[in-house]
Amino acid sequence: MPRPIINEDECSGCGICVDTCPDSVLELVDDKAEPVNEDDCTGCASCMEECPMGAIVEVEED
Ligand code: SF4
Ligand code: SF4
Repeated sequence: MPRPIINEDECSGCGICVDTCPDSVLELVDDKAEPVNEDDCTGCASCMEECPMGAIVEVEED
């Protein structure tokens, strides 16, 4: 199952990934992106591609 990992040190809190995710996986928590519904992540990679800081990576987990 894919899920996004946010590098909090790199995240600027812009919210682009939150708006980009078609499955509402991400939310801003204390001005940092956080996966709040990671079971819904399809691995589409839109958040990763749109993040201007390169703060998101996707990992595959069983
Ligand atoms: S798009 Fe990148 S920098 Fe912006 S909130 Fe998401 S993870 Fe943080
Ligand atoms: S990979 Fe796609 S579904 Fe998963 S968090 Fe990013 S934008 Fe959302």
